[in-house]
Amino acid sequence: MTTAPALDSPVTVIPGVAEKRASLLNAAGVRTLGDLVRHLPSRYEDRRLRSDVADLASFIGTPVKLTGKIVSAHAKRSPVRRLGIFEAVLDDGTGRVSVVWFNQAWLKEKIARDMIITIWGQPRVNSKKRLQIENPDWSLASAEDAAEDSVIPVYPVLAGMTPAATRKLVHGAFEVLGAPEDPLTRELAEALGVGSLAETLVPVHFPAEIDEALTQCVRNARTRLAVEEFFAFQLMLAVSRMEEEAGRSRPPLEVGEELKGRIGRMLPFRLTGAQKRAVREIVADLESDRPMYRLLQGDVASGKTIVGLIAAVIVIRNRRQVAFMVPTEILAEQHFERIRGMLDAEGVRTDILTASVKGEQRRAVLRRIASAETDLVVGTHALIQEGVEFGNLGLAIVDEMHRFGVKQRRDLIRKGVVPDVLVMSATPIPRSMAIAAFADLDLSVIDELPPGRPGIRTVTRGSAQFEKIYRFVREEIESGAQAYFVFPLIDESEESAHAAIRKEIENLRRRFPGVRMEPLHGQMSSEEKDAVMRRFARGETKILVATTIVEVGIDVADATVMVIHDADRFGLSQLHQLRGRVGRGSRQSWCVAVRDERASEEGKRRLRLFASTPDGFELARIDLEQRGFGHLFGVRQSGANLFRYGDPLAQPELMERARAVARKALETEGLAKAKMLCEVLRQQVTTIHGKD
Ligand code: ADP
Ligand code: MG
Repeated sequence: MTTAPALDSPVTVIPGVAEKRASLLNAAGVRTLGDLVRHLPSRYEDRRLRSDVADLASFIGTPVKLTGKIVSAHAKRSPVRRLGIFEAVLDDGTGRVSVVWFNQAWLKEKIARDMIITIWGQPRVNSKKRLQIENPDWSLASAEDAAEDSVIPVYPVLAGMTPAATRKLVHGAFEVLGAPEDPLTRELAEALGVGSLAETLVPVHFPAEIDEALTQCVRNARTRLAVEEFFAFQLMLAVSRMEEEAGRSRPPLEVGEELKGRIGRMLPFRLTGAQKRAVREIVADLESDRPMYRLLQGDVASGKTIVGLIAAVIVIRNRRQVAFMVPTEILAEQHFERIRGMLDAEGVRTDILTASVKGEQRRAVLRRIASAETDLVVGTHALIQEGVEFGNLGLAIVDEMHRFGVKQRRDLIRKGVVPDVLVMSATPIPRSMAIAAFADLDLSVIDELPPGRPGIRTVTRGSAQFEKIYRFVREEIESGAQAYFVFPLIDESEESAHAAIRKEIENLRRRFPGVRMEPLHGQMSSEEKDAVMRRFARGETKILVATTIVEVGIDVADATVMVIHDADRFGLSQLHQLRGRVGRGSRQSWCVAVRDERASEEGKRRLRLFASTPDGFELARIDLEQRGFGHLFGVRQSGANLFRYGDPLAQPELMERARAVARKALETEGLAKAKMLCEVLRQQVTTIHGKD
C-alpha cells in the first residue's frame, strides 16, 4: 500500500528528485516535504516587465528581465580564483551585455550561439568597469512558460542548486502535497493566534502581486513558523516534566498557621514584598499534590537564600530532608554558617558535604545523611557523587544554577526520589528568556531589593588613573571599608597567571602600607581559601586580591569597594555578578571598572553600558542578545540558536502564548495524545538541537 505524500515524506517523492540530490539536500538540513514548504522566499521579483539592454545602467543592483540572442558563448577557467566560468554575450537589439555564470561549466552543453534566451538577474559593474550580469536565472525563450512570466519568489538556494531549480523544488513539494495538512489542529492554531499551515504558506510561495498584502502574508508566515517552533519546544518540555513527575508524586505538605508563625519569628528581617510573593508561590506548590519544580529568579543580593530556607524549613517540618547544592566550597561554607545560625535554635540538624570533608568525618556525614538523621545538608558537587545516599530526601535546592549543567541538576533530583525542586538563578534573565530556556520550570521572580541599601555607584576608569583609584581606596579603608581587587584570569589553573596575582599583591603592599591583604585564587587548596575568606569576612583582612572565584554568592557586609582590573575583558553578566559582591551592607558602595589601555571599542562600549545599567535583568538581556540563546543550555558557542524562525528575545509574547497553550493542551488532551503530537512536531520542526 502506498500512502499519499505528507509533510514528513522524504523529498524523493517529488518527481525528478533522485537519491543523489536527496542526500545533498539532507546534508543541508532538508529531509522532508515539510522542510521544503517551510523554506521561505527571501524576496520576490516581478518578471512580467522586460528591460532593454540599452537601459541597464539605470538598473544596477536591481533584478531585470532580458530576452535576446546569444552572440557568443564559451567556458573558461578564472586565472585568479580557479573557478569554472561560463561566459555569454546577449544581444537584444538595443545593445549587448556580458552574462557570466560561475561554477556552472555544464551550461556549455545547454546554451549556445544563436539561441534566444530569457535571463533574470542583477546588472553590476565588473572590475573592468563594464556592465555584467552574474549567475542569472535563465530559460529558453521559446520554452518560457507562463509561471516564469509572473511574480516569482526567490529562495535562498539549497544544496548548490540554481535559484530556478530551488524554486522548482519547493513548488514541486506543493504539487505532490496539494494543500499541506497542518500538524496543529484548528483549535490549537487559533489558540496560538495563527492561521493554518496551508493558509499562511501558500500565499508566500505563490504570490500574485508584490504589494502590502504580500508583505503581510510574509509576516504571518514567519509568525506561524516561529509559534510552531515555540509550541513544539514548550510541549516537549511540558511532556517530559509530566513524565518525570509521575515518578515523583507525593502527598501535599502541611503548612499550618503554627509553622508560619515559627518561620516568621525565625527571620532576622522583614521580607520584601517580592520575597513574600515568592514564598507564597512556593507554599502553594508544597501544599498541592504535585511536586514543586520552580525557578527562583532575582538580581544579585535580592535575597534568594532566605526564600530557599523558608522552603527548607517547611519540608523539614514535614519530616523530610533537604539538600542545598551550591557551586563553590566558599559559598557552601558561608551558607552553612548562616543556616546554622538561623536553624540550630529550631532544632534542625545540619551538615556540610564538600570535597574537603574527608576521612572519618566524611563517613560520619554520609551515615547521618543515609539514616535521615541530618535534616539539611549544604554541599557542592560532592552531593551528587556516588556513595551519597539520602534516607528521605524531600527537597533539592540548587543555588546559582547556571554554574551547574542540566545533567548535574537532574543528577541531584534523581538522588532518591526527590519530589520537590527549587533552583535559584545566578544570573537574572528576562522573564521571556527564562520561560523559553527553562520551560519545564515554574517561575518566581524577586524584582525588588531589600530596603536600606544605599546602592552601588559604578564608575569606569582608564588604567592611567590608578594613582587616584589607590588614593580613593585608601580613604575608604581608613574609614572602615574593605575592598576587592579582581583580576581576570583566562585559566585558573595556570601557574603564570598566579604569578601575576602575587606580583600584583607586592605592588599593592607598597601602595597600602600596613593594610592587611591576602590573595584568593583557584590554585589554593580549599582549606586555604576558606581561611582567607573567613579572615576577610571577620574584617581582619582589608583587601582581597582575587580572581573571579569571588564571583558567586559571597556576602561580606563591610566590603564596599570592588576594583575590577581589565574589566573590558569580562562579559556584562559576569561584571554584574562581581559588582554584586559589594553593596550588601548599609555603607555606600563602589564598583570601579578599570579598562586596559588597549581595550577594544567593543570593550569600552560594554563598560559604559555596565556603568549606566544597575539592573541585572536588563544587563542579562543585552548579554543574551549578543551571545545568543544557546549558551543558556550549555551550548557554549556564541550565537548558537535553538530556533530557526523564532527569536525568544524579540518575540517574548509568542513564547508566553506557546507555553500557555502547550500546558493547556497537555492538561485537556492528556499525556498520551500530547506525546503523539510531540512526535509529529519533532518530525517536522527539526530545528531544536542540543536539548538534554
Ligand atoms: P542573593 O539573592 O544574591 O542570593 P542573598 O540571599 O545572599 O542574595 O541576600 C543578600 C543579603 O541581603 C544577605 O546579607 C541577606 O541577609 C540580606 N537580605 C535578604 N533579604 C533581606 C531583607 N528582606 N531585608 C534585609 N536584608 C535582607
Ligand atoms: Mg545567592
